[in-house]
Amino acid sequence: MPEDEGSFRAPKGTNDLLPPLSNQYVEVSRAALDTFARAGYQPIETPAFEHTELFVRGVGEASEVVTKQMYTFTDLGGRSLTLRPEGTAPVVRAVLEHGLDRGALPVKLSYSSAMFRQERPQKGRYRQFFQLGIEAIGSDGPLVDAEVIEIGKRFLADVGVPTKLFLNSIGHHANDCRGAYLGVLTDFLNERVDSLGPGDRERIASNPLRTFDSKDPETAAVMAAAPLITDHLCESCRAHFAGVTETLTDIQVDFELAPRLVRGLDYYTRTAFEFVAEGLGAQDAVGGGGRYDGLSENLGGPPLPGIGFALGVDRILLARKENPIAPSELDVFVVAVGEGTAREAFKIATRLRNAGLAADLDLGERAMKGQMKAADRSGARWAAILGERELASGKITLKDLKTADQKEVALADLESAVRP
Ligand code: AMP
Repeated sequence: MPEDEGSFRAPKGTNDLLPPLSNQYVEVSRAALDTFARAGYQPIETPAFEHTELFVRGVGEASEVVTKQMYTFTDLGGRSLTLRPEGTAPVVRAVLEHGLDRGALPVKLSYSSAMFRQERPQKGRYRQFFQLGIEAIGSDGPLVDAEVIEIGKRFLADVGVPTKLFLNSIGHHANDCRGAYLGVLTDFLNERVDSLGPGDRERIASNPLRTFDSKDPETAAVMAAAPLITDHLCESCRAHFAGVTETLTDIQVDFELAPRLVRGLDYYTRTAFEFVAEGLGAQDAVGGGGRYDGLSENLGGPPLPGIGFALGVDRILLARKENPIAPSELDVFVVAVGEGTAREAFKIATRLRNAGLAADLDLGERAMKGQMKAADRSGARWAAILGERELASGKITLKDLKTADQKEVALADLESAVRP
């Protein structure tokens, strides 16, 4: 039996999100979708698995994700399916399938979804992880790039993860642009093939841009002197990139030009960016994205330029560990003391919930002391204490758990007494 198949062990590289961290996961996802919606990005939910072909054509046959990391399986009907390793290709597929591009452009969509990649697990790198993303599909103007980038950076700062924004343009697939540059880069690498790390030599033919991402110190030393894409952009990509940087400056979004920044997925064109947080160690990119102007056509669709980002929720939570948000607080913890009060207390808690209040109570039949402890631990503002005497007189005691002040209120007035 593989080492990660013990009876109570989740598969290697996966995490159970447990309370209290799970509260933060929910909070961050909710805050993200809310922030995105306020800028016009509406949620989309695509299937957790797609036809394998989608990622091969979309993400790219030579990309690391496709060659080494996909969870691909054959279903009982003999179809090759893959757990989605990323969100952009599925979103573009859904836009094409449902003709969302026939309305006003750009189509603006957001998602919060689990992704699956068979990577070597380490802190901040898992086999199932969560991404929050937006996609703006159907426009190629630089204002769209600036909008997407600004939303990502602001959201991260708002949830307590200030980041540095690294920005580049990697041109487009044309002979007078990235095509010519790849020729120059390939020549440069071939001349230095013996100085490259062994794992990087095969990349010269398959995916030369990725040599910039190599962790091998020998390759990194070579790449320090490599020709840069930004010196080989065609006129239109250069003008586009100038539009992006000028607009970001207009809206006061700080960035650092990063001419060696390339992205792992092959569909990227023009703008590429990454949000990097401090204190995360080796896996310090909390998010990244870029343009994918050729993706729709790679999938067999019409020309449909797009741009988006994906933020790693697992890394956002790691970065926030020192600075967590409290779980959403209860208004009332109902405490039952004495004969016949438990069922009444239960009815009261249900009544409060029906009135839109956050209420809980002890269902473990504990004594008053244990219930008061649970009330304190719950973070509730009030303990509503129901004893036999209160029950008989139609009253309830409210204890303010911050100040320890107590007062009696009529049961009928409980909702208004505790409503924040
Ligand atoms: P990518 O889709 O590779 O551009 O990644 C975008 C963001 O998703 C990264 O910046 C990370 O924050 C996060 N991410 C990517 N891969 C993983 C992984 N294996 N485990 C956890 N987070 C990841």
